[in-house]
Amino acid sequence: MLFVNRNEYIFEATPRMSTYQLGWAMHDFVSESSTNHLRFSQSFRMWTRRSMNHRGSIALNQGQSIYSFLNHWLLVDNPIPKMDQIAVPDFNFHAMENWGMITYRESVVLYDDWLTPTRNMLDGFTTMAHEYAHTWFGNLVTPAFWDVAWLKEGLASYFQYFAVSMVQPTWRMMDKFVVDTLQAAMLLDSADHDRVMNGRNVGSPNSIMAVLDFVSYKKGASVIRMLSHVIGESAFRDGLRSYVKNMSYDAATPHDLYRHLQSSTDNHGQLPRNMSIKGIMESWTNQPGYPLVTVTRNYDTGTFIVSQKRFRWNKTGGQSQSELKWWIPLTFTTETARNFSAVKPRYWLKRKCENFTAPLNISSSRWIIFNIQQTGYYRVNYDEDNWKMIARYLSSKDFLKIHRVNRAALIDDAFNLARAGYIDYSIAFNLSKYLVQEIDYEPWVAAVNNLKFLNNMLSGTRVQRAFQEHANRLLQPMYKQLNFTDSKDEDINAKLNKELILTTSCLVRSVDCLNVSESLFRNWITKPNETIPRDVKSFVYCEGIRSSGGKDWYLVMDRWLNTDLQTEQDLLLQGLGCTRESELINSYLELSVTDEQNVRKQQRMMIVNAILDGNVENVDHVLEFVRSNLQRIIELYLRAFIQGHSEQLGSTLDAAKKALSVALKNVEWIKKYLPGIGKNIFWVKMVFE
Ligand SMILES: [Zn+2]
Repeated sequence: MLFVNRNEYIFEATPRMSTYQLGWAMHDFVSESSTNHLRFSQSFRMWTRRSMNHRGSIALNQGQSIYSFLNHWLLVDNPIPKMDQIAVPDFNFHAMENWGMITYRESVVLYDDWLTPTRNMLDGFTTMAHEYAHTWFGNLVTPAFWDVAWLKEGLASYFQYFAVSMVQPTWRMMDKFVVDTLQAAMLLDSADHDRVMNGRNVGSPNSIMAVLDFVSYKKGASVIRMLSHVIGESAFRDGLRSYVKNMSYDAATPHDLYRHLQSSTDNHGQLPRNMSIKGIMESWTNQPGYPLVTVTRNYDTGTFIVSQKRFRWNKTGGQSQSELKWWIPLTFTTETARNFSAVKPRYWLKRKCENFTAPLNISSSRWIIFNIQQTGYYRVNYDEDNWKMIARYLSSKDFLKIHRVNRAALIDDAFNLARAGYIDYSIAFNLSKYLVQEIDYEPWVAAVNNLKFLNNMLSGTRVQRAFQEHANRLLQPMYKQLNFTDSKDEDINAKLNKELILTTSCLVRSVDCLNVSESLFRNWITKPNETIPRDVKSFVYCEGIRSSGGKDWYLVMDRWLNTDLQTEQDLLLQGLGCTRESELINSYLELSVTDEQNVRKQQRMMIVNAILDGNVENVDHVLEFVRSNLQRIIELYLRAFIQGHSEQLGSTLDAAKKALSVALKNVEWIKKYLPGIGKNIFWVKMVFE
């Protein structure tokens, strides 16, 4: 048969691979090759729409260094000799690791050096590193089934930080791992759930989608990082090399991974003889949640007792689950020793063991701190005296002698222990007073996450204003050091700090922050060619929209629809959600369900989220809109989905149930803690003034 105007393409045979990794693209895009003169530069390419040509250069060059590092570290070559990468204009996922042809959402890899915020680029680089890591963990060695998806997603989520940290040592990526990944995982893992890393009853498409969650990604990565410190860097690296080399083109189970890590650990000898990697790991992979380690000192005998119990928001309910026990690697240092690099376990809290006692050779007036650099996937609670000693030290001029990751861990543990009722809020607030002298990004991320939670929960109560004044006092010294301009000379941490601290200051209604934001916004409205510095844009757009009316809102909407660069579109889209005017909120919601050709499908849900993030009271508008437009929403989002996939509705229902249980939990929380927090803010205020 003769086909006119048709082309035939013949592809080379792929290596032996799993079906989900196959992808192909039909497009009229243009390509760019990396300018780094490293190996594979001929075939390391980024494909983009013509108008986005060269917008991928920054990502492509960073990406190639990261990919080269991984290749070098793992010592196993990628059998596919090319790495095509495609920036897809409308893509429901952030990225997909098709073997030899990685696809990304445009905002992940296409930047403008003056317009795209630093945080956005950093997230882009880590996403790229994640996809590259799948070359080995996922593509070459594929998990036997989706129930152990952590074998690829946990490892890729670990390497997305580790690889960037090795290529850019000054970026402190492994410190950022703790606040971005580990603390985020523990927050979600504190709920009453029975989701475990080695999934149960996984088979239907619905149940497979459900296991691609924080447990496979963030918890998986955190447990893997803990294991790397338990067995030591060399054993970890050698074990992974041997696992990838021997399991290539094969399906692997967790036991295969344990076997290879065990034999490299036996060679390096960091683990006690009576313990096995399988035994340790299964206590983390087959049980839900994570432990709270409680350290109680006996100041008379100079000893301490360590015990374990599952940490949970609802600490009184579900007795049987609090009986869970883990193999817990214990690391600690004291005020006298202050060794924050000793991440090798000093003791093990054994799985069969409720608690144990050990001697402590320090004066009873000096602190002890457990979980060095938060290498363990657990929280730590102390007796009240030890908490006070830590708080006192943090408020002294010596506070930098406590490692920045431990400062972040102390803040995150204290506020979450208070949130769950294990300690009084006065301990957390007392500890957080030291923030007036904190300068590092990572402890501030931990602090801001917890301050944001309280600010949300206190919204609409009489205590909120006092809380915001308190938060402002903590932020003030850092705020004064920062400015609203963009400078190429600042290092990455200074840039990230700027966005974090200024955003939070505006969030807690700092008058100066709001005034500067508004004047930057007004200036940009009247002179469209004057851009707002990239790292302050996200909240300047938001505050500007929040304090202005319909005319400006439509003008910003117009600028969005005429913007080609997706990172800029996303910022404008997010800012538009900050309006308080119901008419504008409704127009915006309307846009999310109509077929406006300039609105990409991936942006529909982003619009709804922008409105929900914009103002607490916007939630009512969204609920009302959903109620009165249910039929249209179902038509647009769900019809194709429902046909042939009716069982998938189960996961939507599960998500709705989860949201409802969180809402109910929050109401309980407000009833329980509001009076106490009010009292504490008053008390802290007295101490400050
Ligand atoms: Zn992945």
